[in-house]
Amino acid sequence: MKEMAKSGAFKDKNDSKDKSENSSQNENNEDSDIEDELATLLGMRCAVYHTHTWGGQPSLHNAMVSSAVPRQDDDQFTDLQVRVLFTHPTHQEMLPCPFFLNGECKFSDEQCRYSHGAVVQLSNLKEAIEPNYANIKIGSRILLKLKPPDDEDMSVVKKSTEKYHLWHRGVVKGVDVEKKSCVAKLEQNIKTGDKRKSAS
Ligand SMILES: [Zn+2]
Repeated sequence: MKEMAKSGAFKDKNDSKDKSENSSQNENNEDSDIEDELATLLGMRCAVYHTHTWGGQPSLHNAMVSSAVPRQDDDQFTDLQVRVLFTHPTHQEMLPCPFFLNGECKFSDEQCRYSHGAVVQLSNLKEAIEPNYANIKIGSRILLKLKPPDDEDMSVVKKSTEKYHLWHRGVVKGVDVEKKSCVAKLEQNIKTGDKRKSAS
């Protein structure tokens, strides 16, 4: 107990020292406030507009904030930017790059066939789209995932397993309320075996 009290007293001394240091750093508070705010954004679920590589209309996709883009000195008047990873990627260029996540992708953001994260302005983040399973009925459009063969190695995304990591658009053809499952038809044909329900 005596020792604890001692170390407590010691800590108090440090605290008061910190305080006096802080007061002299008041000018930097604004910057650190923004950094604090950015830190709370990491991992946040959101939705962002994405235009596919072949063009077309931008569509809204669920994503997660993965990092803040460091500010340049000369862009103090522009909006803060963050990188987001798509949580329900529907196309190859949206699949999070497994090599980049490990810090060892040899390709640049533009060259890589997978996504190093989309750079989005903070003000362009939308609310994440929540799935509503109760509303699923015949004719509903859903996102579904294909069930990989049992012996397939799914730990790392690669060309041959991309279709199992991607989400595919489908239309509900039948609903079994008791089994909490439904039968869906893929909107586009994918060469594969059986389908599994996993609506979004
Ligand atoms: Zn990559």
